[in-house]
Amino acid sequence: MHGWNGQILRVDLTKKKSSVQSYDKDFALKFLGGRGFAIKILWDELPKGTDPLSPQNKLIFATGPLTGLPLASSGKIVVAAKSPLTGGYGDGNLGTRAAVHLRKAGYEAIVIDGKADAPSYLYIEDSKVEILDAKTLWGTGTFAAEDELIKKHGKNCGVLVIGQAGENLVKFAPVLSQKGRAGGRPGMGAVMGSKNLKAVIIKGSKDIPVSDPDGLKELGKQAYKDIKGKESYDFWIRQGTMMALEWANESSCLPTYNYSEGVFDEAKGIDGYRMEKLKVARRGCPDCNMQCGNVIKDVEGEEAELDYENVGLLGSNIGLGDLEKVALLNRLADDWGLDTISAGNIIGFVMEASQKGLISEKYEWGSADDARTILEEMTFRKGFGNVLAEGVKYTSQKVGKGSEKWAMHVKGLECSAYDCHAAPGMALAFATSCIGAHHKDAWLISWEIATDRSSYNEEKVAKLIELQQIRGGLFESFVTCRLPWIEVGFSLDWYPKFLKAATGEDFTFDELKKTADRIYALVRCFWKREYPDFGKAWDMPPDRWFEEPLTKGPLKGTKVDRDRYVKMLNMYYEMRDWDSNGIPTRKTLETLGLPDVAKALNI
Ligand code: SF4
Repeated sequence: MHGWNGQILRVDLTKKKSSVQSYDKDFALKFLGGRGFAIKILWDELPKGTDPLSPQNKLIFATGPLTGLPLASSGKIVVAAKSPLTGGYGDGNLGTRAAVHLRKAGYEAIVIDGKADAPSYLYIEDSKVEILDAKTLWGTGTFAAEDELIKKHGKNCGVLVIGQAGENLVKFAPVLSQKGRAGGRPGMGAVMGSKNLKAVIIKGSKDIPVSDPDGLKELGKQAYKDIKGKESYDFWIRQGTMMALEWANESSCLPTYNYSEGVFDEAKGIDGYRMEKLKVARRGCPDCNMQCGNVIKDVEGEEAELDYENVGLLGSNIGLGDLEKVALLNRLADDWGLDTISAGNIIGFVMEASQKGLISEKYEWGSADDARTILEEMTFRKGFGNVLAEGVKYTSQKVGKGSEKWAMHVKGLECSAYDCHAAPGMALAFATSCIGAHHKDAWLISWEIATDRSSYNEEKVAKLIELQQIRGGLFESFVTCRLPWIEVGFSLDWYPKFLKAATGEDFTFDELKKTADRIYALVRCFWKREYPDFGKAWDMPPDRWFEEPLTKGPLKGTKVDRDRYVKMLNMYYEMRDWDSNGIPTRKTLETLGLPDVAKALNI
């Protein structure tokens, strides 16, 4: 088989055993890789009702047929498991040398079962697999742990690691790599911690089998050149995703004071231009020629990597307009292994609850010291931090007194950095994302703002589905970074060419979209299997966006219209060929080649 190694590494930490499982071309073509492989494995193997933090949960690292090839931004990996934060399917992706090394070691994925009897790390060098002692690493941050492992095993490897938050089972702890690249905020780091697994180190030395090596090399060269020649490339290199901050503020969608507003008076203190003045370096993922990790020195003089999402959440959302202080919070979160998006969302909630007198702790909007205290308490589960470590949904249920209405999450996953009072399509995107309120599956908001943001129409719903197919279905399964396409206009037409050179197969967009629909439907069915009442009520954005209009900025007075939102949600189900409660029908599942899934759910 070309394009795929055709092998999945299986590791059982309880039994201290590993094995290699082969898979065939049918499986590869039907699920591609990454998220596709992960959901198929979890659907097939994870019994309904499995405790996500038990040894029975499966932690999956999965790449795809384009990962690790000399192509645009291909050094990414998906990490997935049943989520301890939401109880549903959870995943995320991160850029890391581990992705490239995994493919070079001869595998597309690692599936980790069981629980080590003491802190351990997994060492993979081609066919050699060892479970090694991590007692001295347990309790250290991700930066020191990665440094230590590289010192021991050499630079030529990839490291996936958790911090103290993952060890302490903080339910939004991700997995990290390369001091700032993080993925899996529905608690994949907590799943790793529950398995007593501090890190995974991968060294691969083989060639990835591709159909047309020379053609692929040439395509890669052309693609890098094409990206570099794009009009927006130079500005992207200057600011990366930080350029979105000014745009979001001008467009009234910058999350501010726990998503109560979309504009922030101090936005200039944290925007891309401010970052440019402080920038000392640029970092990024392997095989990328548009690296977007902007590094500045934080208020303590240490290097910290910034992007729009973490500055939106740890900046404007908590009322903090000083970028060097935002950078400090971001560095601490990365080092301790906390997700910056969820953490900033929860800090915003806590500050609001404190200001409203709903909790006894005293916190001020915009106080970096208070935010640091909250971060630390979450990470180490101290005092009220033990509640916060369970996520914003759980925290609001504990606080009560109506705070559930402004706990900003969907399905238990905290919203990422877009306020949706004046973006009903983006609210629908958050609400129907298959892991909870994450932007990665459908970043509809830039299209929505550029077209007609106030409408609730079919065109918007159709665009949302198309973006979910491409972003959540295809890029998460190829597995490569979507940013060349989104941010500098790298054409999607490159991808069937890449796939042809890698696998020898001809893929049309219609076929690829069907694959994406298959993956999305299977994720939906996973949720349904876990939660018998799963359906329409789960696809609603937070009440705040329906009930409390913006009080500032050019769109003052705007909020989402609930009735029109529900009509749009109904259109979404119809266009996806799901039933009126948002569950894929038997016919849809059969058309997607999933009749066994329909049978299992008795649909
Ligand atoms: S664009 Fe940014 S996120 Fe994407 S591969 Fe490059 S460095 Fe990584």
